[in-house]
Amino acid sequence: MKFRNFKMVGYVIYGLGSFDQLDEILAPQRKGDAPMIFFVDEYFKDKPAFLSRIPLQGKDKIVIIDVTHEPKTTQVDKLRDDLKAAFGEVSGIIGIGGGSVMDLAKAVGLMMTNPGSSADYQGWDLVKVRGVYKMGIPTISGTGAEVSRTCVLTGPTRKLGMNSDFTTFDQIMLDPSLTSSVPANQRFYTAMDCFIHCVESLQGTYLNAFSKSYGEKAQELCEEIFLEKKQWDDDADEKLMMASYAGGMSIAYSQVGVAHAVSYGLAYLLGTKHGIGNCIVFDKLEEFYPDGVKKFKAMVKKHNIEIPQHITKGLTDEQFDTMINVSLGMAPLWENALGKDWQQIMTRERLRKLYEQL
Ligand code: NAD
Ligand code: ZN
Repeated sequence: MKFRNFKMVGYVIYGLGSFDQLDEILAPQRKGDAPMIFFVDEYFKDKPAFLSRIPLQGKDKIVIIDVTHEPKTTQVDKLRDDLKAAFGEVSGIIGIGGGSVMDLAKAVGLMMTNPGSSADYQGWDLVKVRGVYKMGIPTISGTGAEVSRTCVLTGPTRKLGMNSDFTTFDQIMLDPSLTSSVPANQRFYTAMDCFIHCVESLQGTYLNAFSKSYGEKAQELCEEIFLEKKQWDDDADEKLMMASYAGGMSIAYSQVGVAHAVSYGLAYLLGTKHGIGNCIVFDKLEEFYPDGVKKFKAMVKKHNIEIPQHITKGLTDEQFDTMINVSLGMAPLWENALGKDWQQIMTRERLRKLYEQL
């Protein structure tokens, strides 16, 4: 097919306090007595005032998700096996949290109906069967996981998403009030994921008017929030949530670039998390994204954020090779960033030098 036929999220509800409409939104999706399963970020585990707002009925269950590490295929398979053993069937999976919890909700939702291990479906369009009903409720803004057609998983041999039309959420709920408790440093790292999505999409060779219109708006919102605003407020939470959405829409119809390709190597070898990993890499990418990196550095300075340095110091040749292999495996990202001849431009030697600077 010459043009991609882009699968989007089914329904979107937006607004401060919209979380209180969860019960009525879920009602038509309930199938007999099969429960709704709520995956909830561990931050909320000792927040009874929040947990009591989750509209539990019948056999519904809250599963607290440990987000110390980013989602793994083994974790997805175990959650699926546990739910199957306990309930047989479920009506749906609702992910309430950041990119990690939303991706787990997507992956487990798919694996409730697809046989085998989630590792079998890491790649593009390998999922053949629709999953159960899936809903995403972000509680931190930036990844765009709420709108994307992927759920990123670390598997036995690679970190790669289950990219498919079935992966996209059936419903998302964008309630910016849920993000007000995110600590400033973490908020910055995940927000910069959005900013970097925009820069990589807007500077990429895959750019088109669809992606550009979303990317420009999201980047403008990030700059307004992080460079112009005097202090954080509800308006900032609302704008950052919409920036995340628009940034996600921008890359959905284009691709990310150098920072993502390089940070995937760090994540695979060192377990560096997505938001902070992208910041560590982007900080050193002046030659690829001069204007974006300049703005990024200004934001870092204004918000007194510490970007870790020298994290690859002392690694062995073999470890550098592992990161280089993972990174160069992300061909579409490199092609978007550097064009069709990217292999001549980003040689193993040049990438090694880049990793050594991090
Ligand atoms: P995260 O989900 O790991 O959350 C970051 C931290 O914020 C955690 O410690 C969490 O407990 C905390 N947190 C979340 N909500 C909070 C709240 N309201 N108050 C206080 N603390 C809160 O991080 P993330 O940056 O949102 O997501 C990263 C993950 O998303 C990675 O696994 C990455 O691979 C994935 N990702 C997916 C896509 C996609 O399209 N599917 C895109 C980008 C990134
Ligand atoms: Zn990202």
